[in-house]
Amino acid sequence: MLTGMQIAVIGGDARQLEIIRKLTELDAKLSLIGFEQLDHAFTGAVKEKIDEVDYTNMDAFILPVAGTNLEGYVETIFSNEKVLLTEEILSKTPEHCTVYSGISNAYLNGITEKANRNLVKLFERDDVAIYNSIPTVEGTIMMAIQHTDFTIHGSNVVVLGLGRCGMSVARTFHVLGAKVKVGARKNEHLARITEMALTPFHLNDLKNKVHDTDILINTIPYPIVSAAVISKMPAHTLIIDIASKPGGTDFRYAEKRGIKALLAPSLPGIVAPKTAGQILADILAQLFQEDLALRKENSK
Ligand code: NAP
Repeated sequence: MLTGMQIAVIGGDARQLEIIRKLTELDAKLSLIGFEQLDHAFTGAVKEKIDEVDYTNMDAFILPVAGTNLEGYVETIFSNEKVLLTEEILSKTPEHCTVYSGISNAYLNGITEKANRNLVKLFERDDVAIYNSIPTVEGTIMMAIQHTDFTIHGSNVVVLGLGRCGMSVARTFHVLGAKVKVGARKNEHLARITEMALTPFHLNDLKNKVHDTDILINTIPYPIVSAAVISKMPAHTLIIDIASKPGGTDFRYAEKRGIKALLAPSLPGIVAPKTAGQILADILAQLFQEDLALRKENSK
């Protein structure tokens, strides 16, 4: 249980509702900031404005997956008000107060460092990234179906990268009957791709591997699908780039060549906000319970 814990949930989308549900069930006390248009009420959670909250006993802040933007504003789909997170607000919290976000940027790093508060980037955790790869793959399949007039089964699919998403994408398209080639740069990744009964190739060789590609799925957040690579693809190739913005594709050149290339961010939040929220809710509940136990132990 999280009895006695005080947590500010600041902004976010439908994923945050699962987090609020779970934490209120565990008896945490929540301040919901940027939720005034949310119809649903949760016992133990109070809707408040960012400048009206008493932060003196706040144990944690939960931000949306994106954290803040580079000016410090937090995205709030349940509010029309602008919610700005500042160093001044963080400085009003107790020293142990921790900020939880999916990812971070220079602004969020800067204010947490200056206020000397711990920042946890949930998406850097392997467990979260692996669980999250499940709805990500389902979103990728949805996009492949929506934007092609052929089946995935029997098609030539190239996956770039064998990280947490790349492995899930490659395996799932293989199971759906696609002929999957995977590009990587590490020997151990090339070995793993072979072990998975897929066709490996080194990324240095990418432009020689795409002449018959029907669908290319990029998971590498680096400019890898260059004009030189795109120029070797057949005109009907669909590029789905799931790497974080700005992706790894030369979208300008793809458009010039008439090749459909889609940047597909936030797929879990689009195709399965409930599951994506539950993944975050479960890990946050676990982290809060550990934090609470540690603080109780230290105060003995
Ligand atoms: P990951 O586990 O870190 O995998 C990244 C892959 O990219 C690894 O195979 C890595 O290979 C490769 N890579 C990185 N930099 C490279 C470079 N300069 N040259 C060649 N290969 C490089 O990350 P992940 O969890 O799979 O996520 C992949 C991307 O998808 C991230 O940008 C993430 O933010 C994004 N993502 C998007 C969605 C969505 O909904 N669109 C959902 C989840 C994640 P090495 O091991 O050799 O470095």
